Amino acid sequence: MFAEPRGGIRVLTPEVAAKIAAGEVVERPASVVKELVENSLDAGARRISVEVEGGGVRLIRVRDDGAGIPASEVELAFQRHATSKIASEEDIEQLTTLGFRGEALPSIAAVADVEMLTRIEGDAAGIRLQLRDGVVLTLATEGAPRGTTVVVRNLFRTVPARLKFLRAPATENARIAEVLTSHALAYAAVQFTLLIDGRLALRTGGGGRVEDALVGALGVETAARLLPLQRAEPQGTVSVSGHVSPPDLTRSQRSQQLFFVNGRWVESRVLARALEQAYQGLLPAGRHPLAVVFVTLPAGDVDVNVHPTKREVRFRRDGEVFAVVQAAVGRTLRETAPAPLVTTIACDALGEQIPLGERMPEGEASSDSADAPARAPMALRLPVLRVLGQVGGTYIVAEGPDGVYLIDQHAAHERVLYERARAQQEKDSPAMQGLVEPVVVELSPERTVLLEDGREALEGLGFQVEPFGGSAYMLRAVPSALAGRDYRMVLDDLLDRLAEEPGDDWRDRVAKALACRGAIKAGQGLTSEEMLELVRQLEATASPQTCPHGRPTMVHLSASQLQRHFGRA
Ligand code: ADP
Ligand code: MG
Repeated sequence: MFAEPRGGIRVLTPEVAAKIAAGEVVERPASVVKELVENSLDAGARRISVEVEGGGVRLIRVRDDGAGIPASEVELAFQRHATSKIASEEDIEQLTTLGFRGEALPSIAAVADVEMLTRIEGDAAGIRLQLRDGVVLTLATEGAPRGTTVVVRNLFRTVPARLKFLRAPATENARIAEVLTSHALAYAAVQFTLLIDGRLALRTGGGGRVEDALVGALGVETAARLLPLQRAEPQGTVSVSGHVSPPDLTRSQRSQQLFFVNGRWVESRVLARALEQAYQGLLPAGRHPLAVVFVTLPAGDVDVNVHPTKREVRFRRDGEVFAVVQAAVGRTLRETAPAPLVTTIACDALGEQIPLGERMPEGEASSDSADAPARAPMALRLPVLRVLGQVGGTYIVAEGPDGVYLIDQHAAHERVLYERARAQQEKDSPAMQGLVEPVVVELSPERTVLLEDGREALEGLGFQVEPFGGSAYMLRAVPSALAGRDYRMVLDDLLDRLAEEPGDDWRDRVAKALACRGAIKAGQGLTSEEMLELVRQLEATASPQTCPHGRPTMVHLSASQLQRHFGRA
């Protein structure tokens, strides 16, 4: 199965080598934009304007008012591994610039027609350089404002294979816009402009306020609802700032989670996991928070030289970074997330909706959120509530200092039991009840797999289950809270629930399944004492607003909403 011998090993020509190397840096038009914008930022630009045509394939023009390149060095800038940003190996450890590999300009010139016009402060005229196939075509002086303009035409003209992999221009444009908005967030003091096929697609203020940049990146409605990150306990030398979404503002994808490390827009598993862990139990399955998170740490503690595109980073102490981010997000959610407000109530009798607040405009924002207008954040913890009664055997009606609450008794109880289960799991030895007469259960093959996978997590809660030959298992102990129940049924139900809980975190899945299995059902009548007890327990939880699956536990009608609705305001 070997190919015909083709004459041995040879060194590739510089042109071929350049094209191969370029493939790693320049994957698509947005990569060109990213590299050029990074160069402008490294040059200290205050204004950066980007124009693209034909999805960036026909034209990309990036103009900045940065330092410019001295006439004597313009040609050098297009040589491989030519950079003004580092001089020695040690410099890589202490990077303060976005670029350092000296690869972007030669790589772009290897796969497109490039032109550069640049002038430094103090020079009377600028210099224009034209390249074709990576080779200098013309070099001439020309009047120019201070700064640098790079024009890239016919991207991938010489690499048709790459062209084939590009998406529709609209998709490539979206990726280019993403590059601009992310850099606008990290560099709020710089004004960014993006023109797509002559239309203004983005202009940021450049006034230095991250909040303004957020509006540019995410839109007014969404930006207004984000929560500024609270300061967490300082951990070593890592600090974190930024904004995250309240639990009722989510997306089905992670594309609106932006992470920056020392001002560099990065992709990081560690940061993404830290973020999502902080939301555990607050979001429905398959939903993801929005976030803009800036991590700052000493340059020597992060390695950006992992990949030619510099999007990947490695942390020297990733446990520390993880902990700081998770703590900051967690604290923010506990302390400042607003209580879910429902602004529309279905009026069954008339089959119509009575708006109790301003409706959100149609579109993504309204379908993705719990239909809530901007409002002042209030503590996520519940105020003390007075129980008034039960509706439909399912909802508890209560009154608080600010209006009326309808509480879903099942969801509320689930939250209480879930937090209790999680607390048990934190203990070394969970409260368990040994069975005087062990119970033997027969399990189907699917249930057996489930039990084996979740065994450790179940033991963490106080279950003791042992194989008893074939498909039989022996239950020797149960969590104390379940003492006296029909254990066979408890285990059956629990495994049923467990099968439906998604996720790979078995401890969390087991806690959720147990909570759901144990919670009061809808339709079950409760005495006043029972309702009061449940509401007190809910008040004591860390996240009373949602059940462990992220569904709301309550509807809150504020006093002002009621007033407005009845025309009293
Ligand atoms: P790197 O950014 O890794 O140094 P590049 O190939 O992107 O490598 O750029 C090579 C050099 O060209 C940079 O080190 C810088 O000195 C110069 N340069 C590139 N773009 C600009 C710009 N917009 N303004 C000023 N200098 C620039
Ligand atoms: Mg660069």
